[in-house]
Amino acid sequence: MSYWYVAHDDELLLDLDDYMRPTKTGCPWGEAFFRRRLRNAMAAGKLKVSEVWLVRSTSERHFHAIVRTSSFINRSDLAAQVSRLIWQLHLGSDLYRGRADLMRAVRGFPCASLLIRDEPIPNFYRKPDAQCDCTKKHSTEEQFNIVNSGGIACPVFQQLRGVSPWELFGPSSKESEKFIPLPAGRVPLELVMSKFIEGEENGTSG
Ligand SMILES: [Zn+2]
Repeated sequence: MSYWYVAHDDELLLDLDDYMRPTKTGCPWGEAFFRRRLRNAMAAGKLKVSEVWLVRSTSERHFHAIVRTSSFINRSDLAAQVSRLIWQLHLGSDLYRGRADLMRAVRGFPCASLLIRDEPIPNFYRKPDAQCDCTKKHSTEEQFNIVNSGGIACPVFQQLRGVSPWELFGPSSKESEKFIPLPAGRVPLELVMSKFIEGEENGTSG
């Protein structure tokens, strides 16, 4: 089973990748960007926090954190939703998830931010918002391939995460490419659009 937590109005849902990885100064990522920034925001009265939860995610050394805050209560407008998403990024949450969440929010999709877990959070103050039968991690690419080939994708994924990052930003390239140096000053668009695949003679654009 997979358990889905969709951000409520009073919650920040953070996805903290590799809590102990060193930042530029050597300080662990989670300490510098989660604990200290959260402390500073609370001390400065910028976030009114009633509860903080830290739980392991499926991947080793990765954590989910939930910050329960009354700062946005009774506000479900776009500005409040975007503020929550910005706080999540400020507190160290995964940038790739965050940029897609922000784009979903400004495009008016509901459920911009969520956490998917393989078990409910133990002793948590509320139940998950949804659950599905999937036992392995939901791969966005896999889910969309299933739909494109006429199969049945996870219904909860379809409902809560129906827009993929490449629908928002365009598909990402997975091929191994050669480095293309750019000149300083005005950069020719042909260079921006160039793609030199390893082992191929000529570059292609597009
Ligand atoms: Zn599922």
